[in-house]
Amino acid sequence: MEPLSLAANQPPKFYRGGPQIASFRGSPPDVRPLGSDDGFAPEDWIASTVASDGTESDGATVLPDGTLLRDAIRADPLAYLSPAQYAAFGPNPGLLVKLLDAGERLPVHCHPDRAFASTHLGSAFGKTEAWLIVGTEGPDPHVYLGFNRDVELPELDKWFEEQDSVVILAAMNRVAVNVGDAILVPAGTPHAISAGVFIVELQEPTDFSVMLEWKNFGMPERHDAQLGMSVAQSLQCFNRRRLATDDIADLHRRGGAGGEPGVTTLLPPSAAPFFQAEEVVVDGSHDLEAGYSILIVLDGAGTMRTADSSIDVARGSTVLIPYSAGTTTLRGQLRAIRCLPPASHGQ
Ligand SMILES: [Zn+2]
Repeated sequence: MEPLSLAANQPPKFYRGGPQIASFRGSPPDVRPLGSDDGFAPEDWIASTVASDGTESDGATVLPDGTLLRDAIRADPLAYLSPAQYAAFGPNPGLLVKLLDAGERLPVHCHPDRAFASTHLGSAFGKTEAWLIVGTEGPDPHVYLGFNRDVELPELDKWFEEQDSVVILAAMNRVAVNVGDAILVPAGTPHAISAGVFIVELQEPTDFSVMLEWKNFGMPERHDAQLGMSVAQSLQCFNRRRLATDDIADLHRRGGAGGEPGVTTLLPPSAAPFFQAEEVVVDGSHDLEAGYSILIVLDGAGTMRTADSSIDVARGSTVLIPYSAGTTTLRGQLRAIRCLPPASHGQ
């Protein structure tokens, strides 16, 4: 197979955002991505085998020939995945990548880990995620990551009932971010992204979210149930222990000057069971070893070549590289992020 350039894929969402995605993708103002007219197109799901919560296909990537990527991988898994990856997970790439442009502060929420998802949600995957900050707007871009003190379950219940955002945010670590930063968000960690933060997001391939804030975010149904569970059960997902400064330092890699040709690993080793991310800076020519991966070009332009193909890439390009494409060669002057599946299962 050859690498596939993917178009924007923006399922409707409950929150505002999207202009930074349109700008990144280079969409002219009169040909804006589907769903963006109302300002609620804050996410672009790249090489997605996952449908948005409660739907059959919203968010699932459709290939240029009209096939769902999910079905194409099932039909011919070893065209897409390495033998080791297929042996570990079956016909599932184990990875979901998104562009996310937060047009408003997102509600505080968390995601189940694999053990919880396996027990209560019938899924081998939970949703550990990671944020690679690729753009910001406004003077004070920040995120909220983990509680800044231990929180007991009755207090969490009370917050869920009372929906006082001031109280909830006061109990969270507020972390300033800049372009180039990378943050690992282990499943269970409460989190939120502030308005103006534009990220490449890597996730386990599910759409499981447990909200702590819901009332002011248009989700009244969350008062009674979440993901088909009672609220009491869903709140068990939260890691209620304090996340200390040292813990945050382990998860948050601050962007450096960068720019030198070569490959930089962006996430800590503890991300490896879930996904990997590399920054690739090319000045001339650079070979990428064979492996299922998603390449997102942040700056510059060039070509991606295999033995049998050549495609042009530039800022805003998102490319699915199947395993069977073999070694791919990037030529030109460009900077990209390469998103890879779990390390422990080969590529
Ligand atoms: Zn999240």
